[in-house]
Amino acid sequence: MATSRHTKVLIIGSGPAGYTAGVYASRAMLSPILVQGIEPGGQLTTTTEVENWPGDTEVQGPDLMVRMEAHAKAMGCEIIGDIITDLDLSRRPFTATGDSGTTYTADAVILATGARAKWLGLPSEDKFKGFGVSACATCDGFFYRGQEIVVIGGGNTAVEEALFLTNFASKVTLIHRRDELRAEKILQDRLAKNPKIEPLWFHQLEEVVGTDSPLGVEAVKVKHVKTGEITEIPTKGVFVAIGHAPASELVQGQLELHHGGYVKTNPGSTETSVPGVFAAGDLTDHVYRQAVTSAGMGCMAALDAERFLAAQGDTEGKDMTEPLGYGAPVAE
Ligand code: FAD
Ligand code: NAP
Repeated sequence: MATSRHTKVLIIGSGPAGYTAGVYASRAMLSPILVQGIEPGGQLTTTTEVENWPGDTEVQGPDLMVRMEAHAKAMGCEIIGDIITDLDLSRRPFTATGDSGTTYTADAVILATGARAKWLGLPSEDKFKGFGVSACATCDGFFYRGQEIVVIGGGNTAVEEALFLTNFASKVTLIHRRDELRAEKILQDRLAKNPKIEPLWFHQLEEVVGTDSPLGVEAVKVKHVKTGEITEIPTKGVFVAIGHAPASELVQGQLELHHGGYVKTNPGSTETSVPGVFAAGDLTDHVYRQAVTSAGMGCMAALDAERFLAAQGDTEGKDMTEPLGYGAPVAE
């Protein structure tokens, strides 16, 4: 049976931004509801060691997220395993529809839907997704014990994935379109010292080559970006690690976006172009994109929501066309 739930603050997303917002909104006695989405715990559940979360010299990403969830719950945040499939920000209370059939109405919404892995967009990449092509080494690395694999990309994710995959693979080729990595120096050092990793500079993936029955990868064709020369490299696995794109589909056409899909916020705050809707974490941040900065923005969003609700009094049922008298227009 379809149910309807009302909350003062609806938090969408369960990464560091969402759970931190949950802690702060709970301690502000706002009885928030947090909807976890398809990836409870967010991106950090797809990695292993995290070495830059303050207070932990080293912590496993999934463990950290279990702790954050428990923390939010202990403070009083209601955590729901559902996915928001539709969000109406045109009037208050704002309305979100869950995949479960539940309708959530809320006086304020905190968007913390983070980011998702980017793909290259090649037809052959799509064909072999889940059958030799992956964007998550921690999820799929185990299947490549003793085999040769390739990783595409030159950022932190690509280098970390390559390092992690050497636990299983006999050889990892890191294919990057330039001869300079974007990854932090400490990761570059580890990469250079790892005898199982061979970088292939100035190359781009052209095609994943494999068998149809059973579906499986046998090789990749890569192109030299300067000479155009095509080389075929035998491999059983292709890990695409070329970055992440903000998960802003729910608010497209409803909120101002910038930099290719990031939710725009007022400088120094988490206010979006719709009063009462706040955005935090990788969804709004095209610069830092770290767990700690996402958590910081989650805190800001809860504090902003608390102030907004206090300034509005009882907002339920108000028409969004009414001037709300809160927040400045989102600046460029
Ligand atoms: P995310 O972690 O992206 O979480 C988004 C959440 O939104 C998910 O729970 C998802 O289920 C939910 N969601 C999305 N759509 C919906 C929907 N429609 N309905 C409901 N929920 C929805 N950063 C570091 O600081 N240190 C590291 O060592 C580090 N390692 C990383 C390793 C890897 C492999 C990756 C991919 C990233 C790493 N990062 C690291 C970056 C860090 O993970 C992100 O900056 C951080 O997770 C962003 O947090 P977030 O809360 O904004 O969103
Ligand atoms: P990123 O920093 O955006 O790097 C993406 C990499 O993929 C770049 O090297 C880029 O090449 C390459 N690339 C992008 N599009 C490509 C294409 N179409 N074809 C070929 N190559 C392509 O992404 P990320 O590594 O996923 O990191 C995302 C964020 O999470 C960053 O802020 C990062 O610091 C953070 N993170 C942190 C840690 C950590 O702290 N340990 C770990 C993982 C991620 P160019 O360099 O040529 O642009």
